[in-house]
Amino acid sequence: MSKELNSYEIAQQQIREAVNNLGLSEMVFDMLKQPTRELTVAIPVEMDDGSIKVFTGYRVQHNFALGPAKGGIRFHPDVSLDEVRALALWMTFKSAVVGLPYGGGKGGVICNPKELSNRELQRLSREYIRSVAPILGPEKDVPAPDVYTNSQVMAWMMDEYSKYKCYNDFGVITGKPIIVGGSLGRNEATARGCTFVVREAAKAIGLNIKGATVAVQGYGNAGSIVANLLHKLGCKIVAVVDSTGGAYNPQGFIPEKLEVFKSEIGTVKGYPGSKNISSEELLTMACDILIPAALENQITEEIAPRIKAKIIGEAANGPTTPGADRILTKNGVLVLPDILANAGGVTVSYFEWVQNNMGYYWSEEEVNSKLEAKMVNAFYEVYKMYKAHKQVDMRTAAYMVSISYVSEAMGVRGWLGEDTKVQKCRKVS
Ligand code: GLU
Repeated sequence: MSKELNSYEIAQQQIREAVNNLGLSEMVFDMLKQPTRELTVAIPVEMDDGSIKVFTGYRVQHNFALGPAKGGIRFHPDVSLDEVRALALWMTFKSAVVGLPYGGGKGGVICNPKELSNRELQRLSREYIRSVAPILGPEKDVPAPDVYTNSQVMAWMMDEYSKYKCYNDFGVITGKPIIVGGSLGRNEATARGCTFVVREAAKAIGLNIKGATVAVQGYGNAGSIVANLLHKLGCKIVAVVDSTGGAYNPQGFIPEKLEVFKSEIGTVKGYPGSKNISSEELLTMACDILIPAALENQITEEIAPRIKAKIIGEAANGPTTPGADRILTKNGVLVLPDILANAGGVTVSYFEWVQNNMGYYWSEEEVNSKLEAKMVNAFYEVYKMYKAHKQVDMRTAAYMVSISYVSEAMGVRGWLGEDTKVQKCRKVS
């Protein structure tokens, strides 16, 4: 990754800009620019052939001002400490923007789960959680799924942590299977939350969602479900790409049928009646709504000038580089930033943790309506901030909203010194 695209440095720049725009003290930046705690672990895992392979893993806890650290665990060959730092930092602001009582954290293991057998994956998941267990716990740090981890991995991790504690501790991790304390609606939550904010953004800019054309980059859990939900709202899904290729059909796809095709063939490429399309072609094609739902740094300075969408809903974390952001803002594209647009996942993770703590479980309807209320509220809070400050884009506005909350908490806790200007914003009734 080039220096320009180091996600950790990008995340620090985003904080810098929001702190300056809010006129907050330098102490706020000093506290937020780096994680509170980082742990690097070497994880020996027995492979199926009897050999031992040592994997490297991380758990980074960015900030605890509003509550325990919260954030997923990523299994990917490109995981690095700087990437995990950036992702942990983004979690602090993602949780704060939707008003969750959490700080931010993130974990990662450098590995390729596609090359591991199911047993090796299980052993790696258990060994990783053992290695970081001393800094985890429902009141300390609560992991969840992220790229290439899923509810099965969460179940193994919860089980291993429970063995370590010698009692069932369901609240230590979220995104679990329903039978062991998972929440209804968690699997679709990131996509559902993204759909709610895209719907509200369309209303705000006067775009009719019915018939709006949509292109989705990344057809995994988040991307495929966003496509499905936007289609249900009347949108026309005209293009999708996954890591192996893409499909374009100006008449629009039926997402359920596309999913069946993908699950049988392993890719959306070659879907009957569609034209093959590359990721770059998808990002720059004529459409109303663009959903980046893959990895970081996809919308670059090179691609941004050719983007024609009116709204970008960032279902992925960090898909747009700062240079691209500036170009999109200049061109009048409304970017719904990751910390807002994909906050649905952590929001329902929060509901899962609350349900685990109470031992009482909600219906899917209840979960979805609570999620809708949180997402719609967060969208308008950010949109109001954006409208009130002519010089900022939606991303900076989202950081300004969340940094206001985090800095208020740090201020009242005495972390910022006596004469620090504390931004008061949470209404107390
Ligand atoms: N990994 C997801 C994210 O980046 C979910 C985090 C969580 O549920 O804690 O938002």
